[in-house]
Amino acid sequence: MSEINVQLKDGAPVTVPDSATVAEALKKLDRDLAKQALAAKVGGREVDLAAQVHHLADNGAAQIEPIKIEPIVPQTRDGLEVLRHSTAHLLAAAVLDLFPGTKLGIGPALLDDPRYGFFYDVITPRTLTEADLPVIEKRMKQIASQNLHYRREEIPKAEALRIFDERQEPLKCELIDEKAGDVVSVYYIDGSPFIDFCLGPHVPNTNKLRAFKLLSLAGAYWKGDASQPQMQRIYGTAFFTQEELDAWLKQREEAEKRDHRRLGRELDLFSIQEDYGQGLIFWHPKGGAIRKEMEDYLRGELLKRGYGLVFTPHIAKRELWFISGHEQNYADSMFSPMEFEEQEFRIKPMNCPFHIGIYKSAQRSYRDLPLRYAELGTVYRAELSGTLHGLTRVRGFTQDDAHIFCTPETIRAEILSCIDFAYDLYDVFGFKDIKVELSVRGADSGKQYLGTDEDWEKAEAALVDALQARQIPFERMEGEAVFYGPKIDIRVGDAIGRMWQLTTVQFDFNFPERFQLEYIGEDNKPHRPLMIHRALFGSMERFFGVLIEHYAGAFPFWLAPVHVAVLPITDRINDYAEEVARDLRASGFRVEANLRSEKIGAKIRDAQLQKVPFMLVLGDREMEQKTVAVRERAQGDIGVMSIAEFKEMARKLVETRALSNR
Ligand SMILES: [Zn+2]
Ligand SMILES: [Zn+2]
Repeated sequence: MSEINVQLKDGAPVTVPDSATVAEALKKLDRDLAKQALAAKVGGREVDLAAQVHHLADNGAAQIEPIKIEPIVPQTRDGLEVLRHSTAHLLAAAVLDLFPGTKLGIGPALLDDPRYGFFYDVITPRTLTEADLPVIEKRMKQIASQNLHYRREEIPKAEALRIFDERQEPLKCELIDEKAGDVVSVYYIDGSPFIDFCLGPHVPNTNKLRAFKLLSLAGAYWKGDASQPQMQRIYGTAFFTQEELDAWLKQREEAEKRDHRRLGRELDLFSIQEDYGQGLIFWHPKGGAIRKEMEDYLRGELLKRGYGLVFTPHIAKRELWFISGHEQNYADSMFSPMEFEEQEFRIKPMNCPFHIGIYKSAQRSYRDLPLRYAELGTVYRAELSGTLHGLTRVRGFTQDDAHIFCTPETIRAEILSCIDFAYDLYDVFGFKDIKVELSVRGADSGKQYLGTDEDWEKAEAALVDALQARQIPFERMEGEAVFYGPKIDIRVGDAIGRMWQLTTVQFDFNFPERFQLEYIGEDNKPHRPLMIHRALFGSMERFFGVLIEHYAGAFPFWLAPVHVAVLPITDRINDYAEEVARDLRASGFRVEANLRSEKIGAKIRDAQLQKVPFMLVLGDREMEQKTVAVRERAQGDIGVMSIAEFKEMARKLVETRALSNR
């Protein structure tokens, strides 16, 4: 019997019989690894452990180099894919077992969707409901515990078609017809009714699948096409250990409770309306109250920090977008041009060229610089509908955009002030966990960068200087810079540890050239100004979404859409309640008086559900003494006080933009 040489990545080669499987070869190479392995890569191909090694070597050629075997193990991305994909097969096996006659579609693993780990599309003899999921999951567990074997067979296409036709699996036949070559690989789970057309690899046995859960059902169309048969998609997820699954489920539950789309509806903050268009945000009055606070803070700070507030149009002639380069490089993300009086216009995807327009409206001297233009600039981008998500991925949004035009002498101070501004903003809105990335040129990449080496070095030095001056740790991202300049990106962590990209401070060597920007220097000669783009919130919509999830809708007092709910105990207190509400409103507070004829318990519950920070409960005694009994949403009753006392407490919370009501 002939033999072959096999080898782990860096290990010594060993000899195994020609007939050895990947599992047997691994066992000889490293017993521990062999025990852990779910599948393997041989010669770069992902294969089952049961595959024969020599089949995978180059045909016929005399084998001189040992064959490299790389096990696919748990706690790796490849391992997770094999695990989840195998679990999708297990799901299909359980469904077939419970619902004979089921037609199967496709069942891939999902690695990048935070919501799910895999799905399988099915057409069952009767429509499935959520109540079926635990039953299917139970059957999956039973099959898993039987330790059934995933067996691969390679058969001629005609035979595969015959098998799936006999099994009345028209969708699988269609797939084989379209995708398969002359030889088709099929997978059985031995001892179950399941057979699938699939390339693999899979785990060797079902007992490798120990931590999985079915999550939800959704409608789906075969091949995602509404003219094709309607199917049901069963979503689930799988992990290597029960602990991992439990932790994920807990985080998911937390995230679901905080989902800004759900809270946006329940708290009446915003909506997205299909009739008007996907990805377009309607801020309702309560969301509008929060937006006002965001804008008030921002505008106040912009003025204090020497920015000029500008307002610019939403459209511009198409020629402008050729000068900016958007037409050449970005046209796919822009809405189509519109024509009027034989001129074409585009709606803006960015504000930059407009601020440049203001800069260029006069001759600038070094004495005028730095010039800082800030705008809450609304832009529109043609994002595909499949990528849209609530407030965080939209087609129309407002950036808290600013562009700074300055001389090389002042660049360091400008960067420093952008960083300080960003950190103040996170502090005010209650974000503590901050991560900074510095994106710079790559050493060897073939990327074409604009600007001279000197430009890049100076710009990077200014960014690093600013971060070091504030002792801010940062991660240097080699080769991550865009072609026109280095940048700082800042991400913040929310209350459940998810990171969100918000702030960007970006150098630009491109636009000053394209738009031929100049200032007259001390030497009386024209010079190119430096240009910085920066946005702190990023987009108002996205930041709003992050805020909703961070606070789970229970906003700090100063941000809360309704500061105070006034709750009379009986109808005869209504006049006093209105008087209190008027008084508070006149002092600038957002107040709702609930004058409905309901029990006080119901009124409190309602205000509590709306997460109103303070409830003023008013009865006969309060009316006679001109007082209010104050209830805080988390602490409960905090005592009776005069209206003046309450207003004083509330005024302080607003003035200091306090994050807690204590
Ligand atoms: Zn498969
Ligand atoms: Zn810009």
